[in-house]
Amino acid sequence: MMAKIIQEKDVTNSSVNSADSQPLPSKDSSLLSDAGKRLEKALKHIDISEDAIARLRYPKATLCVHIPVRMDDGSLRVFPGYRVRYDDTRGPGKGGVRYHPGVTLDEVQSLAFWMTFKCALLDLPFGGAKGGITVNPKELSKAELERLSRGYVDAIADFIGTDVDILAPDVYTNSTIMGWMMDQYSIINRKLTRGVVTGKPLTLGGSQGRDQATATGAFYVIQAVLPKFNIKPQQTTVAVQGFGNAGAVIAELLFQAGYKVVAVSDSQGGIYAPRGLDLPSVRHHKAQSRRIKAVYCEDSVCSIVEHKTITNAELLALDVDILVPAALENQITAANASDVKAKFIFEVANGPIDSAADEILLAKGINVFPDILVNAGGVTVSYFEWVQNRNGWYWNLEEINQRLKTKMETEVEKTWAISQELKVDMRTAAYIHGLNRLGEALDAKGTRDYFKD
Ligand code: NAD
Repeated sequence: MMAKIIQEKDVTNSSVNSADSQPLPSKDSSLLSDAGKRLEKALKHIDISEDAIARLRYPKATLCVHIPVRMDDGSLRVFPGYRVRYDDTRGPGKGGVRYHPGVTLDEVQSLAFWMTFKCALLDLPFGGAKGGITVNPKELSKAELERLSRGYVDAIADFIGTDVDILAPDVYTNSTIMGWMMDQYSIINRKLTRGVVTGKPLTLGGSQGRDQATATGAFYVIQAVLPKFNIKPQQTTVAVQGFGNAGAVIAELLFQAGYKVVAVSDSQGGIYAPRGLDLPSVRHHKAQSRRIKAVYCEDSVCSIVEHKTITNAELLALDVDILVPAALENQITAANASDVKAKFIFEVANGPIDSAADEILLAKGINVFPDILVNAGGVTVSYFEWVQNRNGWYWNLEEINQRLKTKMETEVEKTWAISQELKVDMRTAAYIHGLNRLGEALDAKGTRDYFKD
C-alpha cells in the first residue's frame, strides 16, 4: 500500500500491537524521544502502514566503540565513539561525524533519526546515519586528532562503506579530517574508496561548494520563503547563533544579499551592533584571532565599531526579524521560548528547538522553518560529491549551486503546499512529506526482513 497524505485523523486508537504502541521512537532516551514527538504530530496526517511505523520506531543498527589513542607525550587515552544507522531503506546510511565533549549515544541516535527524514524530504537516495566521538578536539594536537580519526575508522570500518553508510563533517570536524578518514578506509580495503566519505578536500575527490553547502542551501530556503510574507532583505534584521562552518557562512551570505545582520555569537558569547555588522570583517578577524569581534577592516587593518557584547541567551531573545540558530541542539526550550521575539526562525543547527518550545513559539505566531529542510544543503551537496566520485566526472561550482538551488526550492515549495493545504506548521509539513516517501519505500520493500527463516 502506498502512503498518502490525509486530513487530520485520530491515531490514539491505532491498532499497532501493544509492544509497539509507545511514542515514536522509544521512550528510553530523552533527545530521541523528544525528536519522535514531531513524528507523532505528522502521523495524524498521513496514511502510512503500521509495519512502516513499527520499523521507524528504533534505529536499525548501533555501534559503540572505544578508540585507544597514543598521545604526543607517550600516554594512552581511550575515547568513546559511536556510529548509528537509523534506516537504510531508501539507500545507504548518510550522516556526519561529530567531535564534541557532550557527544552521547542518545544524541547520535537523534541526529541519525533527523538524517533519515532529511534525506527523504530532499528525495536523496540515502537513509539516515550519524557518528560521533566524545572528545574535546580543542585539547588535541593535530597529530593526535589524526590518530583519533584514523582509529575511529579502524573501529567502524566493517560498519560503513560506499553502498552501506557514508561519513561527512559535522560539529568540530572538517574536510581535513574527512580526508584522513577516507584515506584510512582505503588503506584497510587496499583500494582507493572515495565515496565512503563526503566533505573531503577537493584534491582528494571533494566537491566544489561542499564547504559552504549547508549555509548556501539555507540561504536558498530563506530567499524562497520570505517573498511569501512580502519581506525584503533591506528591511530585515538577523541574529545568528554559532559562528562555525554553517553559521559564519549564512551570516555572510545574508549580509551580501543586503540583510542587516545585527548579532552573531560563538561558544564564548556574542556581539550586537544595532546598525549592522560588516560580516567579511568579522570573519576575517575571527580567522586571525579565533575570537568574534565587532570590527570593520580595510586592507587588513581592523578597527572596532560600536557594539555591545551579549550572552548567547541574550542573542536568542533579541528583537530581530530573523533568528538563525546554527550551533547545537536544545538552545530554545520551554525555559526561554517565551523570551524569543524574532518573527522567523530558520534552524540551521540540528534540533536547536525542543518540542515543548515548538508549541510556545507556535502560540506566539513565530514562523519556524525546520532543520530537516533548512540545513539539508549540506547532505544534498554530499550526495553530489558521492555521485561525482562514482562517475569520476566533476562539476564546477556554478553547476553545483544551480542543482542545489533547484533541489532546495523544489522541496520548499512542496513542503509549503502541504502546510497550506493541511493548515499545519512547516515542521509538521516537512515530516509529513519525508514520512510519505519513507512509508512508500518501506512498503515497497515487502516483508522479507520479517520472515528471514
Ligand atoms: P562548527 O563546529 O563549524 O561550528 C559550531 C559553532 O557553534 C562554533 O562557532 C562554536 O563556537 C559554536 N558554538 C558551540 N557551542 C555553542 C553555544 N553553546 N552557543 C553558541 N555557539 C556555540 O559546526 P557546524 O558544522 O557549523 O555545525 C553547526 C550546526 O549545524 C550543528 O547543529 C550541525 O549538526 C549543523 N549542520 C552542519 C552541517 C555541515 O555540513 N557542517 C550540515 C547540516 C547541519
